[in-house]
Amino acid sequence: MPDAPASAQLIKAFANTVDIELGTDELDTAGRLSGWLTGQGLLDRNRRISAEDHALCLRLRAGIREELGINVGDTADATLLAEAEEVLHELPVLISLRGGARDAVLSPSPNLPPVRKALADLAIAWSELTITGEAARLKRCAAHACAWVFWDVSKNRSRRWCSMRVCGNRAKARRYTAKQAAA
Ligand SMILES: [Zn+2]
Repeated sequence: MPDAPASAQLIKAFANTVDIELGTDELDTAGRLSGWLTGQGLLDRNRRISAEDHALCLRLRAGIREELGINVGDTADATLLAEAEEVLHELPVLISLRGGARDAVLSPSPNLPPVRKALADLAIAWSELTITGEAARLKRCAAHACAWVFWDVSKNRSRRWCSMRVCGNRAKARRYTAKQAAA
C-alpha cells in the first residue's frame, strides 16, 4: 500500500478539519485554527490569528475541498475555486533552484509573519501535490453526506468513496432501491 507523501497527509488532515457528516469544524474560530496549526508543527506556539487570516485559511480549505471533489467526478463550485486561487496569490512563496531545476524547493517568503508563514506552508503542500500530480490520489468522498477526504491507494486510482464498505455500499444500495422503485 503506497503511503501518502507528507504533503498529502497534511492536506488531507487540513481538508478533514471539517466533518460534513458530524457537522463539526475544528477550525471554526481563530483560536482553534491557531491550536491546529501548532499541533501540525506549522506554528511554533499558539499565536493570535486575525479575522482576516482566519477567513483566508477557510477560503483555502473550501477551494481545496472543491478541487478534491473534481477527482471523484463532482462539479466544483467555481466561486470557491476562484477565492482559493486568490488566497494562493496572497501567500508569497519562493522557488529556490539551489541544485538546479531538478531540486527546486518551494518555501514561504522569509519576511512573512508566523501565521502567514504557516498558511504559506499549507499552500506549498497543496502546490507540491498539484505539481507532482499526486493531488489526483487525494479525493473527497463521492457520497455528499460524507465528503470525507481520503488518499486513494488503488492501483488505477479509481476509488470514489472513502470506504467501499460504508459509503460505496450505501450508494449501491440506494441505486438498487431506486431501480426497484422504478421497475
Ligand atoms: Zn465517505
